[in-house]
Amino acid sequence: MTVSVGKSNNICKIYDSGHTCKTLECLSPVFFCTLSCAEWQQPAGCLTVPVTILQMYQARHTPLRDGIIRRNQQGESMKYEQERTQITIFLRRMLLSGLTVGSGGNISVRIAGTDAFCISPTAVAYDSITAADIVVMRSDGSILDSARTPSSEWRMHAAVYQARAEVIAVVHTHSPYAATFACLREEIPAVHYLLGFAGRKVPLAPYATYGSEELAAAAVTALGNEFHAVLLATHGLLAVGRNLEHAFTVAEETEFVARVYWQARAIGTPAVLPDDEMQRITERFRHYGSQENTHDE
Ligand code: 13P
Ligand code: ZN
Repeated sequence: MTVSVGKSNNICKIYDSGHTCKTLECLSPVFFCTLSCAEWQQPAGCLTVPVTILQMYQARHTPLRDGIIRRNQQGESMKYEQERTQITIFLRRMLLSGLTVGSGGNISVRIAGTDAFCISPTAVAYDSITAADIVVMRSDGSILDSARTPSSEWRMHAAVYQARAEVIAVVHTHSPYAATFACLREEIPAVHYLLGFAGRKVPLAPYATYGSEELAAAAVTALGNEFHAVLLATHGLLAVGRNLEHAFTVAEETEFVARVYWQARAIGTPAVLPDDEMQRITERFRHYGSQENTHDE
């Protein structure tokens, strides 16, 4: 795929093999904007870096290929550059959208059809992270490619990929409202229909030390085959999805509902949607965002 960025008269355009692309999100140090880049006018205060736009476009539009190896300008190869670049973009999103602070949380993407995955390194600042910092490893802990040490939570990510064949991406956050209930050691009930991104509720995994086998086992047990998110007691949230965009959306929507739940409890007693209604909602969310016609009324 040949992609280039052009900018004239303050208008940003992305060209994919000679054609102007339709929409993409650009990462700005200030906020995210959804762009129709053919007509997009850079808004005041949006300090968009063209190379990041390019990365975002490539991460979304290049199909995953097993074992892809590209060479950089020095002739060095990088395995799974696509997945690794996508992880760096979503780590920055996680930080900017307040789903974590510092180098907390971690993100991984499964290498399709394998037990291997790409995962963020431990304790590296997300605003300066590059694709080369992302670790490629197998579920048994063996490293396939990286100069870095993998996230201390790699066992938890590996355990999810082993337990749930359909999961392609895992996002672990320290999002403050979800973490609040994790610290109270309470599950989040269906006080808002958007909890359907996680399931009929957000279950709670018992406390275990971060990075431990015990935490990995507790998280996977609580997640079961049913849920897309689980609270980690006195720690944070684990979200899973059919791709990284999906897993990230689960984490974001769960944080939204956690906040609403906290607010509602502060001034009253929120109603909880019954399981049969949540079953309808989760079924609908299975197709949400796809371009197929999902109207059933
Ligand atoms: P890492 O920096 O090792 O990924 O750890 C962050 C974290 O969230 C531990 O639970
Ligand atoms: Zn953590």
